[in-house]
Order: sequence, then structure tokens, then C-alpha cells
Amino acid sequence: MTHLQTAIVRYWQEHPEFAEYARAEGLHPEDGILPVRGIMFDMDGVLFDSMPYHSKSWARVCNEYGLHITEEEVYMNEGRTGFSTINWLTERQWGRATTQEEVEHIYALKCKAFNAYPEAPKMPGAEELLRQVKASGRMICVVTGSGQASLLNRLTGNYPGFFTEERIVSSRDVKHGKPHPEPYIMGLEKMGLQPWEAVIVENAPLGVRAGVAAGVFTIAANTGPLADKVLAEEGASIVVPSMLALAEAWQELSRWFSCQPYP
Ligand code: CA
Repeated sequence: MTHLQTAIVRYWQEHPEFAEYARAEGLHPEDGILPVRGIMFDMDGVLFDSMPYHSKSWARVCNEYGLHITEEEVYMNEGRTGFSTINWLTERQWGRATTQEEVEHIYALKCKAFNAYPEAPKMPGAEELLRQVKASGRMICVVTGSGQASLLNRLTGNYPGFFTEERIVSSRDVKHGKPHPEPYIMGLEKMGLQPWEAVIVENAPLGVRAGVAAGVFTIAANTGPLADKVLAEEGASIVVPSMLALAEAWQELSRWFSCQPYP
């Protein structure tokens, strides 16, 4: 059994209600097959190599405002909405919830600081992976905690032909950001899929937690400075070292993301 197949068997064991449904549909979960019809991609740290600029701009702006946060803490909290991040900091440091004015002010400063950096490059390997996913006829959806217009607008420009407005979930669409499962549940709804018919590609601990809570097989691409262990402990189905590694392994992996057992 391959590493992936073992992970898929474990996925079915952890979701007996899904396995029962799949059997009724004529699938054999014990074969280690996942009938994947759509892939949900996180954006920052997955499609764009933007996390170094995000962590630097968050840390600088918050510290200047008097709210202390380290760059590593930014990575640990990656995926939260701007509101949730700022609220977490004011609760921790000042013992009170944040205010709307505070959020708007700090988030505007953070976006300004981020936009002063050079354009974040596309993540190496991301386009190769998207191409393979599209060629296989599977759906593609973006599910991001970001509300950063400069990046959201670049999705369609930098990755032409892969994304449509209707299949992008951003912080503007949800009530609860990651690590709440709502963004990924909304992604499933946009594609009309059940949790076991999708795969998530995430890079952040809280993003992985959100994906797992949505009941979806979650691949962690570790594109940042945190240890693999941090992603595995959040319940990642598998952890890969980069998007490039995932793109290179995709053809082999997708044999198990199929409706039929691989011969
Ligand atoms: Ca991310």
C-alpha cells in the first residue's frame, strides 16, 4: 500500500458515515480510493508565495500599533481573517474584544504595508498542479481567509483559465473564518460536492484544522517555516514538502483519487 492509500483508508475509517454512503453508491472504501471530483486550494502560501510579506507586514504594523506579535505567530495564525487576527491580539494583550474602527484601521495599514513589497511571486509548482487538475476534468475552487483585493484580483490574471468568480470563497463571503469549517463547507457547496468528493490543498495549521473539520481529505503542502509535525498534528491527511513536490507526485496520487480501483 502506498502512503496515500493508507491515508485514504484511514480517512474512511474516521468517517464511517461517509463510508456507508459510498458503499451504497457502489464504491469500495476499503480499496483506499477517494472519488475526488474537485480540489479546493488555499491562496496565500499555496498559490502565491506571499506569506513572507504577510508575516512581515502583520508583525510590523501590529507592533507599531502596540500589539505584539512575532512573525512565527503570524504563521501559526495564518488563515484567520483580519478581524479574527486583530481580535485575538487585543484579547490577549488588552483583555478586550477589538472594535470595528480598530480592525479597519489596522487592516488598512497592513494591506498598505503588504502592497509596498514587490508583487508576491506565484508559488513554484502551483500552475503545473492546476494544469493537471484541470486536464483531469476536476473542478477547482479557491478558499482563502484573505480579503486582500490586490491578491484576489491577481488570481484570474496570473492563473488565466483556472478560476471563476463563482468558485472563489474569500473572507468577504463567510461569517466565520478558518479554523472554522465554514469556508470549506461553502467551497463544497459552490462545487455541489460531498466532503469525500473533494481534496483540500493547504499550507497553514489553522487551514488544515478547518479542512479536517469540514470532513475533507486535506493535503498539507509545507511551504513555510513551521515543522511538518505542526501540520500533521492538526490532522493533515498527508504532508508534502512543497507545491512543486505535490505537482510532481500528482499523477501518481490521482490514481487513488478516482471512482474506480486502480488496476
Ligand atoms: Ca495559506
